[in-house]
Amino acid sequence: METISQSELLNIAVEKFSQLPGIGKKTALRLVLDILKRDENFVFSFAQSITNLKENIKYCKHCGNLSDQEVCPICQNTSRDQTTICIVENIRDVMAIEQAQRYQGVYHVLGGLISPIDGIGPNDLNIAQLIERIETGQVSEIIFALSANMEGDTTCFYLSKILKGRDIKISTIARGVAFGGDLEFTDEVTLIRSIENRQPYNG
Ligand SMILES: [Zn+2]
Repeated sequence: METISQSELLNIAVEKFSQLPGIGKKTALRLVLDILKRDENFVFSFAQSITNLKENIKYCKHCGNLSDQEVCPICQNTSRDQTTICIVENIRDVMAIEQAQRYQGVYHVLGGLISPIDGIGPNDLNIAQLIERIETGQVSEIIFALSANMEGDTTCFYLSKILKGRDIKISTIARGVAFGGDLEFTDEVTLIRSIENRQPYNG
């Protein structure tokens, strides 16, 4: 460990902070020195909130979204269309679409995309849960909201084969938009439009 100060306690704290993404040693030191200046209540509740988060947060047993309960508020909400499922890669995509406040269906978070190069196959993703939802619930439409790249296409194709022969409409969000990667970086208007102008999937 790099020695920044004579205090080993400070060095350890700086080291921990600098392991977070986007935080270099300099920023880590600034954060640690700032925390030192705060009162005990702040520091205690700060540490507590991180521990609490890790210990108590759950993944919704239906859709895989982050939740404080077994079932997330979106899956519990009876005023949403529980028969329309939007398939997304990750939790940040759910956040991005929810931010736009227009989509009224529910989600299914895959937790990644199929990528043979990276050794990620269907079994590594939250797909079994999706099949269970389709078999036990009433699903009228599946919307693919996945990245327009090789992995996204492979995943759509794989899922469409599973869904084939069932009485479920399959659509994909409009791809004409700049959508090279993460949904979260697409602006709200584009995101809403791409969902509302979704097209039938024909892989
Ligand atoms: Zn849920």
